[in-house]
Amino acid sequence: MPELRLSSETLDYEIERRRRRTVGVAVRPDGRVQVRAPLTTPQSEVRRIVERFRPWIEKRLEETKERLRRKRLRSFDSGDQVPFLGASLVLDVVETDRAGLDEAVREDATLRVFVPRGLELAQRRAVVRYAVLRWLLEQAREVFHEKHKAAARRVGKSARRVVIKDMATRWGSCGPDRKMSLNWRLVLAPDAVVDYVLVHELCHIDVPDHSQKFWRKVAEHCDGWKEQRRWLRRHGDELDL
Ligand SMILES: [Zn+2]
Repeated sequence: MPELRLSSETLDYEIERRRRRTVGVAVRPDGRVQVRAPLTTPQSEVRRIVERFRPWIEKRLEETKERLRRKRLRSFDSGDQVPFLGASLVLDVVETDRAGLDEAVREDATLRVFVPRGLELAQRRAVVRYAVLRWLLEQAREVFHEKHKAAARRVGKSARRVVIKDMATRWGSCGPDRKMSLNWRLVLAPDAVVDYVLVHELCHIDVPDHSQKFWRKVAEHCDGWKEQRRWLRRHGDELDL
């Protein structure tokens, strides 16, 4: 993992030369700064443009650092909190001698995970994390399909297929082909946020862009869309395990 240290002197970034007209800067979720530049723009010019982006880049890097820090704080041990559709489940890790029990079971606000006795700390942490992840994916599959049905009734359009996957930079996608993808991490967000994303994606079936026409359509079917969109922008980076 690249170090996220920043000094006023240096800003590390990777340049990708592309057939394009403008220089684009992006901060990847792992903290890498990626610069896409036209094939012919001189290096010095690229550097000048990146400098102009610096306050924005530094802000993004700061957020990334904070997110990674929080992620490292999760111990995957008893007492740890797992966000789930606006609730917060408390982990209860139970050691057992019985084999094949390393899966998570929910009981009200408790998420219990059975692990083999005597594992090393890092190993045990990995087993618990995997069990929690599997449980969340299972929930996502169930909940998102139900929510898709409800949203489809409201919008009057439905996806032909809803795929739940690991997406690094997006919450979902859908288009006129009516194939919808949803980021599993949404299961860590409040209910209303997931509902908003579903309406958003379903509205893309008729309007593939983010024009005014599109947002009018979203507003028609989702009252709190602005609030949910703001929540995602503010907290989206935290939705990770
Ligand atoms: Zn969209």
